[in-house]
Amino acid sequence: MKKLGALFILLTMTSASVTAFDTTVYICNGPNSKKYHYKSSCRGLGSCSTAVEKVTLQQAREKGRTLCGHED
Ligand SMILES: [Zn+2]
Repeated sequence: MKKLGALFILLTMTSASVTAFDTTVYICNGPNSKKYHYKSSCRGLGSCSTAVEKVTLQQAREKGRTLCGHED
């Protein structure tokens, strides 16, 4: 049972990180930007003063970004 539990946790973690690596999000590189966006057309990116960068969800999280509140 112990072994099965560990395997289950490993599989869960693996699928979660694969999702983070596969999902593309958009971030603004402005000094006040702390969010990431699922859509490049999100209005939260409308006020971005720099180029919008396309990164993976994993990279956005590593930068300390949190999900924008304007996603629908
Ligand atoms: Zn957004």
